[in-house]
Amino acid sequence: AVRSRRLPPWLKRPIPRSGGMGFTNELIKELGLETICASGKCPNRSECWTRRTASFMILGDTCTRPCGFCAVKRGRPDAVAQDEPQRLAEACARLGLQYVVITSVTRDDLPDGGASHFKRCVEAVRERTGATVEVLTPDFNGDLTAVDVVLEASPEVFNHNLETVARLQRWVRRKSQYTISLKVLAHAKRARPDLLTKSGLMLGLGETTEEILETLADLRSIGCDLLTLGQYLQPSPKHLPVQRYLPPEEFDELGELARQLGFRDVASGPFVRSSYHADEMAKHAAHA
Ligand code: SF4
Ligand code: SF4
Repeated sequence: AVRSRRLPPWLKRPIPRSGGMGFTNELIKELGLETICASGKCPNRSECWTRRTASFMILGDTCTRPCGFCAVKRGRPDAVAQDEPQRLAEACARLGLQYVVITSVTRDDLPDGGASHFKRCVEAVRERTGATVEVLTPDFNGDLTAVDVVLEASPEVFNHNLETVARLQRWVRRKSQYTISLKVLAHAKRARPDLLTKSGLMLGLGETTEEILETLADLRSIGCDLLTLGQYLQPSPKHLPVQRYLPPEEFDELGELARQLGFRDVASGPFVRSSYHADEMAKHAAHA
């Protein structure tokens, strides 16, 4: 693992100015919503919110899975808030969002894993704002009927992250499995070839380049359209340590190799997150 707590120079960025974000912060608080942008302390916040893109986390703030890289609280979640779709749609309308990413914690406690709630959220946002919607879903334990329920809402993009290569799944995601994630993505593409599928990896967890390329080939073999590759950053000393900081040029090279494998669009760079520039990526892919 990287011992020094100092970041390499390319990961140093000015602290985001909070000026233009105060309104967004207040509104999100007022409506009782969670964004990954704020709760994950995402370094891209001011940029994304200025671009009128945000990533909301539905189904509560507590996750039933114990992934070693993730800062989301774990434990026993509260009951699902039935008015969340309306509150979410209200926030999107008042913020004038044109591209909305809806993600969630994993709800292994719910019979459908929260799929019907996902569907209601997408429909409410769509109806109220006409925004383009990307869902970034959990794996629903491989329950393809649950995946179908989400697909019924016809999100423009169906995103589900593999997070890391096959060998490191147990260490990084613990209770989630590579094959189940691939099965979910494969099903989404098969069931709705008209929608774009998307996945992503965090790099710097100890994977080799060969393993990365094998993973990308696996994603292409199930028709995955879009790809994000970003640097893993440790959210706190309790989380998995960073094994390596990949220099920007290496991200560029991997991005190029991924394009050669046939992804319709690829975002690869130290600051890339699953929802970073998601609007541009979807637009670009739709016209490709
Ligand atoms: Fe939010 Fe995603 Fe942008 Fe980060 S990259 S600020 S999580 S939309
Ligand atoms: Fe975080 Fe998702 Fe893992 Fe839950 S399942 S701990 S929200 S990455």
